[in-house]
Amino acid sequence: MSHLTREEIVDAYVAMLGQEQVLTDEQTLKDNSTDRYYKVETIFGIYSMPLPAAVLKPRSAEEVAQVLRFASEHTLNVVPRTGGSATEGGLETVVENSVVLDGSAMNKVLSIDTVDMLVTAQCGVVLGELEDQLRAMGYTTGHSPQSKPLAQMGGLVATRSIGQFSTLYGGIEDMLVGVETVFPNGEICRIKSVPRRAAGPDIRHLVLGNEGALNFITEVSLKIFPYYPDNNLFYGYLVDDMKTGLEILREVVTQGYRPSVARLYDREDGLYHFSDFSEGRCVLIFMAEGPKGIAQATGAAIEEIVAGVESADRVDSALIEDWFNNLNWDVSKIAEEREEIRETLVNGFTTEVSGNWSVIHDIYESALTRIRAEIPAEFSLLGGHSSHSYLNGTNMYFVYYYKVDVDPTEERTRYHDPIQNIIVEETLRHGGSMCHHHGVGKHRTHFLAEEYGSSLYMLETLKSAFDPAGIMNRGTIFPLES
Ligand SMILES: Cc1cc2nc3c(=O)[nH]c(=O)nc-3n(C[C@H](O)[C@H](O)[C@H](O)COP(=O)(O)OP(=O)(O)OC[C@H]3O[C@@H](n4cnc5c(N)ncnc54)[C@H](O)[C@@H]3O)c2cc1C
Repeated sequence: MSHLTREEIVDAYVAMLGQEQVLTDEQTLKDNSTDRYYKVETIFGIYSMPLPAAVLKPRSAEEVAQVLRFASEHTLNVVPRTGGSATEGGLETVVENSVVLDGSAMNKVLSIDTVDMLVTAQCGVVLGELEDQLRAMGYTTGHSPQSKPLAQMGGLVATRSIGQFSTLYGGIEDMLVGVETVFPNGEICRIKSVPRRAAGPDIRHLVLGNEGALNFITEVSLKIFPYYPDNNLFYGYLVDDMKTGLEILREVVTQGYRPSVARLYDREDGLYHFSDFSEGRCVLIFMAEGPKGIAQATGAAIEEIVAGVESADRVDSALIEDWFNNLNWDVSKIAEEREEIRETLVNGFTTEVSGNWSVIHDIYESALTRIRAEIPAEFSLLGGHSSHSYLNGTNMYFVYYYKVDVDPTEERTRYHDPIQNIIVEETLRHGGSMCHHHGVGKHRTHFLAEEYGSSLYMLETLKSAFDPAGIMNRGTIFPLES
């Protein structure tokens, strides 16, 4: 912890950035002390984290560098933040007198380059606003997390986010080409936007998914693609069980087709989202997009594959398109949810894991069976869906809504955390991993310990590999001819 008092911290940053960029009013500090992991508590006005000393709103990478350099010299804890839509405690100010470094005022789209097919934007640009701008020009990033109207560039990269069109476009790691980031010593590092690099490990991965622990992202360059909304094709089917649905997903993807959306909802989650037509069966959804010929070939293959499953029944495409157009969460939906929780005392959360095709159904079954048996909750929904398919497997997005019949501060320890524990344990037991930050944040150390047990050693080795005095093979490095 720092030897500086709150007043000294605030005075130093006001002198550095000016009063306007240093926020210290009590409600702002409270709102910035936590994220949606504590949503029930905050609805009831309970804030259990130490309040940060200040929220800092830098306007440039140089200001970020100054802030971090001072923090580093005085051992201040810094919590990076952009859209504030995190759900996993990544924004908690656990250390006394932390400062929150909020990049949301760095919100300029710097360039849209339709020759190199790149957009470069500052960390505080809201993805939904960027998408609107791009789509008006006939382009898209292909990134569409449900939090698109809220999440900003810095947080999207820092959490290794993934969106609804992932089967075609991938996660943010497949979209990020270049990035500017500031390290804790104030060093500004630029990873340039090139089509490919083959020298050493890919250093973009020191930035992707760092969750604000390693560096502060100030600018990102993402791929852009042509946007062909007129070619979009929607498909919906009802199937009898998850096994059948997962097998259809697997067939489509392993045969080489890339629908942008490929989703399978179990009975419970299906009833929640599609009560007007799901009839208590599992709901399978596809969207094909891109140039006309590709969209149509993908759509034809989906229809042919599903036609081979006798028990599958087609649903009107208009219903699927309609549902899809209302899927994203903006500020008003967050406010609506808070009101609903206050009134009904029913809280909802999600946890998202991944597994190969051969184990994903077992993960799904065993986790739900254990939750039903072990958690003394009154569930209004306990189910799941798959929404990000890869060649070798898919994800399982567990959804649980339960009655908060205890003191709000106990709700997480009584219900939420034990439910997540079971999902994580069953996923690890079957050889799976976390699919994305959203929903497994608090458990990420388990995954790291299990899967990346040697990661610190790997980092040390990486350092020594590029150290002229290191022990690993560096070959001969030729000086450039001048
Ligand atoms: C309704 C809802 C739906 C969601 N749907 C999805 C989804 O479909 N897919 C998905 O992946 N996520 C989803 N999320 C989770 C969340 O929106 C994402 O994790 C998003 O990427 C966070 O972006 P943000 O700008 O809000 O970041 P914040 O909430 O501000 O921060 C998130 C994390 O990133 C770090 N961080 C923020 N900015 C920076 C920066 N500039 N440099 C370094 N670290 C930084 C923070 O310290 C924190 O750990 C959803 C959340 C909600 C509320």
